[in-house]
Amino acid sequence: TTFIGGSIAGLGDIYGQVQKAIGSSERVLEILEEKPEVSLTDYQDVQIEGKVTFENVRFNYPTRPEVDVLKGIQLDINPGDKIALAGHSGAGKSTIIQLLLKFYPINQGEISIDGQAINQWNYKQLRSQIGIVPQEVLLFGGSIRENIAYAKLDASDEEIMEAAKKANAWQFICKFPEGLDTLVGERGVKLSGGQRQRIAIARAILKDPSILILDEATSSLDAESEALVQEALDELMKGRTTIIIAHRLSTIRKVDRIYVLKDGEIVEEGNHDSLANQDGGFYANLVKLQFAD
Ligand code: ADP
Ligand code: MG
Repeated sequence: TTFIGGSIAGLGDIYGQVQKAIGSSERVLEILEEKPEVSLTDYQDVQIEGKVTFENVRFNYPTRPEVDVLKGIQLDINPGDKIALAGHSGAGKSTIIQLLLKFYPINQGEISIDGQAINQWNYKQLRSQIGIVPQEVLLFGGSIRENIAYAKLDASDEEIMEAAKKANAWQFICKFPEGLDTLVGERGVKLSGGQRQRIAIARAILKDPSILILDEATSSLDAESEALVQEALDELMKGRTTIIIAHRLSTIRKVDRIYVLKDGEIVEEGNHDSLANQDGGFYANLVKLQFAD
C-alpha cells in the first residue's frame, strides 16, 4: 500500500470512477480543490485490516436539509467479510458508499475503519485503501497499460500482466498486436462492457486495497463475459472486505450478510436464505419483485 504516488492516482480514481458510479461532478470538483487535511494518522505506509463500522450514522444532503436520507445506520463489517446492501432505488445504498469515501461529512454518528474514525484520515489515505469497481466502467483515452496502472503508477509490466491475468483480461489483451500498448477510447479499440469491467478489475487487483466496493452492473453481459467477469470478481474479492450494491440474485446469495435498507434505515439483516424464507418479510418481497431471474 502506498500513499506516496497515490495522490494523482487517487484523485484520478475518484474523478474517473466515482463520478460516474455514484457521485456528482460538482462535488468531485469541490474535492479536487479542497486543501489537503492535516491527518492525525500521518504515517506513510499502513496495512489496514479492513474493518468497517457505521455507528448510528445520520445524514441529509446539504442541498436538501429537510430530507433525512440515512436515519441511524449501523454496520459492523469485519475484515474480509462480504456484505451486500439491498433495497429499492432511493433507499440510501449509494449514499452509504459516498459517506464511506468521505464525499460528505455526516451529521451524527461515526464511521470508522479499523476502529479509527474516518474524519481522522485524509482523503488520500482513505481512498488508497478502498478499491471500486463501478457499474459502468469508463476508461480514459490512453493505453490499456495506463488504464490498468492508474492506481499504481510505478507498476512493472510483470505486475500489470499478472493483474490482467487474474482479472481474466489478459486473454483478450494479448490478442491485440500491440498488447498492453493498445490504445482504448475514442482513438483506440472499442472494448465490450465485459472487457471494460475486467480492465477495472485488473486495476483494482493491482491497487490491492483492503476494502472493496462493487456496484454491480444492472444490465447483463453476454453469458461468456458474465462468467469471466464473475470469476475475476471472485478472485478480486478474496481476502478483502467487500461491500456490494447487488443487483443479481446470484451475487446476493453468496455474501455473508445482507443489510436490507428501506428509506434510510436497515430493516432486516441476515443471509439470503434466512431472509428470503421470512414469510411477509421485506427482503422476501424484494427478492420476488427485483431479483426474479
Ligand atoms: P440508492 O442508491 O439506494 O438508490 P441513494 O443513496 O442514491 O439511494 O439515494 C437516497 C436518497 O437520497 C434518495 O431520496 C435520493 O433522491 C437522495 N439523494 C441522492 N443523492 C443526492 C444528492 N446528491 N443530493 C440530494 N439528494 C440526493
Ligand atoms: Mg444507487
